[in-house]
Amino acid sequence: MSDAMIECEGLTKRFGNFTAVDHVSFSVARGSIFGFLGPNGSGKSTVIRMLCGILEPTEGTARIGGHDIEREGEAIKEMIGYMSQKFSLYDELTVKENLIFSGKLYSLRDKELRKRRDELIALTHLEPYLDRRAALLSGGWRQRLAMACALMHKPTVLFLDEPTAGIDPVARRELWDLLFEFAGQGMTLFVTTHYMDEAERCSHVGYIDMAKLIVCGEPDELKKMPEVTPPGTRRLDVTCDHLTTALRAMHEMKGVQSATVFGQSMHLLVDETVRRQEIDAKLHEEGIENAEIHEIGPSLEDVFVSLSAKHASENKQKKAA
Ligand code: ADP
Ligand code: MG
Repeated sequence: MSDAMIECEGLTKRFGNFTAVDHVSFSVARGSIFGFLGPNGSGKSTVIRMLCGILEPTEGTARIGGHDIEREGEAIKEMIGYMSQKFSLYDELTVKENLIFSGKLYSLRDKELRKRRDELIALTHLEPYLDRRAALLSGGWRQRLAMACALMHKPTVLFLDEPTAGIDPVARRELWDLLFEFAGQGMTLFVTTHYMDEAERCSHVGYIDMAKLIVCGEPDELKKMPEVTPPGTRRLDVTCDHLTTALRAMHEMKGVQSATVFGQSMHLLVDETVRRQEIDAKLHEEGIENAEIHEIGPSLEDVFVSLSAKHASENKQKKAA
């Protein structure tokens, strides 16, 4: 058996004339954490729904643990856990009841059911809330409960669709600590997110834009791709006051290929010929003094931004031809 736990080949979903997922292929190794990123509406959830057997692909194939998603759905159901984007909890049920109900859906019984429930309560620290109705839990606790429910039947592959959207930074970090623990135990995780810091922590990442998988690989490998920092260019970090003004000035400047705000600073992709003094002088014209400029490597965000821009311009050329 191959070491790939999730494999898809040309996976495609059309809704009428609209293509939501367009020939997506990738594979995810056992015990790894695959981060799946892309703008809203790019097709992330649709990929997950197909992999979980909820939606039928229009074209293409996928296997989970070697089982075909269309022909061997029953075997796959046992293997996978799915935490949907809008945590599908039963609001009227308490924390404890939600767990029990999820276990029953997978035909867990009596002793096993209680054992698993208690394990998951311990793992997610839900003890203080056992008798609280799910509707009354805060975002972070809802998320933990949803994850615990998805884990009741001990899946070996866990799909989490934007598990950290709208939860606080502490809960976010704690969730990731748990995910690493699971991966360490051999579980395979497929996680969609908008957070670049989360993506950086994944063993592999994929970026989907307008239904097409633009790039897929290990974060460090992707950063080395020549397309990301083309020959004759370099990346600079510019820290200065009045970022909005500075950004506009940089967009106007010759030799600056791209300028993006990045936290408290700006990231530039510039022609090698552009000297720091010239940038300094341009900012000076705008009344911005004491800019700190230094060379940097690309971040994952830079990778995704450059590759989707490249993809978009290739598409334009194709259409024009
Ligand atoms: P993401 O999860 O990346 O935000 P989705 O996979 O939810 O994106 O959606 C991708 C695209 O497919 C969107 O344009 C969405 O409106 C469309 N879409 C998703 N599900 C359906 C559906 N059942 N019928 C029609 N269009 C859909
Ligand atoms: Mg989605």
